[in-house]
Amino acid sequence: MADSFGFAEARKRMVEQQLVRRGIKDERVLQAMCEVPRHRFVPPNMWAMAYQDHPLPIGLGQTISQPYIVAYMTEQLELEPHDRVLEIGTGSGYQAAILSRLARRVYTIERLPELSERARLVLEELGYDNIEFRVGDGSQGWPEEAPFDAIIVTAAAPEPPPPLIKQLADGAHLVIPIGPTGYQDLMRITRHGPHLRTEYLTPVAFVPLIGLHGYAEPDENS
Ligand code: SAM
Repeated sequence: MADSFGFAEARKRMVEQQLVRRGIKDERVLQAMCEVPRHRFVPPNMWAMAYQDHPLPIGLGQTISQPYIVAYMTEQLELEPHDRVLEIGTGSGYQAAILSRLARRVYTIERLPELSERARLVLEELGYDNIEFRVGDGSQGWPEEAPFDAIIVTAAAPEPPPPLIKQLADGAHLVIPIGPTGYQDLMRITRHGPHLRTEYLTPVAFVPLIGLHGYAEPDENS
């Protein structure tokens, strides 16, 4: 049914105009962005906007990131088909879907049970069956499944959470926005044995990572 609305065409245009023109080169990333039906991860009243060049609200004060940012962060992970990747901030499940096309197994953690459940249902419906879900504080990682070949955090932290650094395999990248609400630096931290290499990538704007190694939960009365 989807394509009677021209979604496949919209995806192709999104990849060409928003990703390729801005420098995304990894063919596997472009292919995944072309395949995954992004509209299924936003509320039906927003399907028509799903392929536009901006983030969209997904409820509970959270967002699905702009397509370019999803592609860019994914490219920076340098995933190989046999990799096991950890995502913090399942949100709509869209980023997890993209990762699941590029890696062997995806482990994704979301602190809001309602979002995790919604994402799980959509991903199951789409037949993406290499994704494990957990509800909880992702700033503490998923120690039972560590080490990971890549870790992506899709919410902004005050500093790189030490448990996530610890859970990086040798040679693995952690891609994470660091900074206060409204404006952050996207950083890439790579483990080389006992050493870490830190690269600054680009400015971004993400919702906060709420948790032990993130920000405090907002006070609902303030
Ligand atoms: N990756 C998502 C997608 O593809 O739709 C977008 C994620 S949204 C920008 C950030 C998500 O991080 C929100 O759903 C939020 O509830 C979640 N989050 C915030 N703090 C968290 C934490 N400590 N652990 C897990 N998830 C967290």
